[in-house]
Amino acid sequence: MPIRTPPHNPHDISRHDLPDILGTIDSEVRGMFGSDMGKVADYIPSLASVPPDQFGMAVVTLDGQVHAVGSARQPFSIQSMSKVHSLTMALGAIGDDLWKRVGREPSGDPFNSLVQLEHENGIPRNPFINAGALVVADVLVSHFGSREAAENALLAFVRARSGNSDAGRDEEVAASERESGYRNVALVNFIRSFDNIRNDVDDVLDFYFLQCALRMDCVELARSVQYLADGGHCATSGETVASPERVRRINAVMMTCGTYDAAGEFAFHVGLPAKSGVGGGIVAVVPKVASLCVWAPGLDEKGNSRLGGYALHRFTRLTGLSVV
Ligand code: GLN
Repeated sequence: MPIRTPPHNPHDISRHDLPDILGTIDSEVRGMFGSDMGKVADYIPSLASVPPDQFGMAVVTLDGQVHAVGSARQPFSIQSMSKVHSLTMALGAIGDDLWKRVGREPSGDPFNSLVQLEHENGIPRNPFINAGALVVADVLVSHFGSREAAENALLAFVRARSGNSDAGRDEEVAASERESGYRNVALVNFIRSFDNIRNDVDDVLDFYFLQCALRMDCVELARSVQYLADGGHCATSGETVASPERVRRINAVMMTCGTYDAAGEFAFHVGLPAKSGVGGGIVAVVPKVASLCVWAPGLDEKGNSRLGGYALHRFTRLTGLSVV
């Protein structure tokens, strides 16, 4: 009987030449500028004016190495990627009771949809669609006692995870989110009518608009989710942010719901837990190996970064690292 050679250790990222791989991805993506870039979000002026031909990517490995290409140090609007941070905080605040108020099934509908809520008695399908993130925001406002205290806690959380002690709100984006946030206003009021929002709707909305309007760069964002690759340990601050069991669950929800009604396609092409934002960023996690962030402002029709998705697809292809 021939003896089979043991397979490579799939967690050993050191056998990959990451600078070379990122360089390849960077030049492929830049070759796609102008043709298949998608469309930048245009619901608020400060996102509509972002030039689409930009790309950045950062990979932070568990041993603390940072590999970055392109505009990886250019801050941008993190938008819905913040839903990962707020979910982690809400689970830290009230534990599994959160799942009584928000589900964990993919919605199959757009991120800002209202349609399922009526049939499902104001319990949003998952914490990554807007409806679910608004319930998470409500939990945090209750837990910290006021909108302001919850906002300060979120800023402290994001700063401690990312290592950027100045990470903060883009006031212009926050103001435009509020001015144009008709759907979010509708969602929060509708959910409140089912008693699944307990605080003043304006406080919940203000907190939510703050989290959408944070500005960070790819390196900071990859660092900010490193705890999800490392069983809950945040290397930046040295703190334990969540238990390994909770981290597995957050990653599972990212995998199934993190890219909205494209989560199936995303699992098919990329195969990593990930969370997108309409600013064009996507954070992704390779459990026990690395955390990543890509940024390319042009979006596909589901609101996910088109070239960012392509870059992650190429990363998992070139490294063979995926969870599926
Ligand atoms: N600010 C956006 C909204 O609330 C965030 C959506 C997103 O990034 N998918 O609709």
